[in-house]
Amino acid sequence: MGRVSERVCIVTGAAQGIGRAICEALLNEGAKVCFADINGDKAAEVAEANRSRLNGQAGMVMSHPVDVTQREQVAAMIAHTVETFGRLDVKFNNAGVNKPMNFMDVTEDNWNFIMGVNGLGCMIGMQEAARQMIAQGTGGKIINTASIASRQGFDNVAPYCASKFAVVSLTQSGARDLAKHNITVTGFAPGVVATEMWEQVDQDLMAIGASERPGQAMEEFSSEILKGRVATPLDITGTTTFLASKDSDYMTGQIVMIDGGMTLV
Ligand code: NAD
Repeated sequence: MGRVSERVCIVTGAAQGIGRAICEALLNEGAKVCFADINGDKAAEVAEANRSRLNGQAGMVMSHPVDVTQREQVAAMIAHTVETFGRLDVKFNNAGVNKPMNFMDVTEDNWNFIMGVNGLGCMIGMQEAARQMIAQGTGGKIINTASIASRQGFDNVAPYCASKFAVVSLTQSGARDLAKHNITVTGFAPGVVATEMWEQVDQDLMAIGASERPGQAMEEFSSEILKGRVATPLDITGTTTFLASKDSDYMTGQIVMIDGGMTLV
């Protein structure tokens, strides 16, 4: 028995990185998990690898292809999960994108892409999860992925920072609106986490002349982190499982910083 035993959870952005690690930590503590991602094939592959890893405990793992910016797809993902596992208890809105650009070069397309996935995608995910939880009459937990970029601006990522500030205000507003339905809304704010996301970010930083080689940005950040290193996804998952468990039932509207002491606000 684990902290989230039998809890039905959906995690978006689950094909890799932080989302995948969140799913695996939930599974390790007995949850029933839907791996959801725009890369449906990879989500299915990762879910299947976990089914094997769990040694025959089939039925605890499923996957679903979803673009979090498309409401009908999000609703279909939730319907599929409820059809498979019977209900929805916990919804992680974790899918996120970044595409660095110098501030003066930010285009409407860049803004709309990043705000679309990180901002609108988070709001649609919250609404559709809440709709299901309200219909069930069970309450539930919605957990959003924020960032250190939710608290301060950083060079060359203005739309990303704006989108993650939006995640904080959606968390607070959602917590207020949904409390009467016994739905809590929380978030967590990772610092710098070594995931596949950084491979593309490094390429983009080099393309705009903000970095000379892959890994440079992470190295520079490391010197600002009290723990002396960037995070791995496993540094994040103790907190995410806690937020999905009943141990955090009295928390709502809050963002937990997990940044190794990079920001002290
Ligand atoms: P990642 O790029 O490794 O993984 C993101 C996943 O989201 C990918 O599998 C991708 O296919 C999926 N995705 C992208 N657009 C989608 C869409 N429209 N619909 C559904 N899925 C979509 O990124 P990561 O580092 O694991 O980041 C996960 C979350 O954590 C993001 O919200 C990110 O902003 C946040 N975050 C990351 C860091 C970091 O340093 N890695 C720091 C702070 C916050």
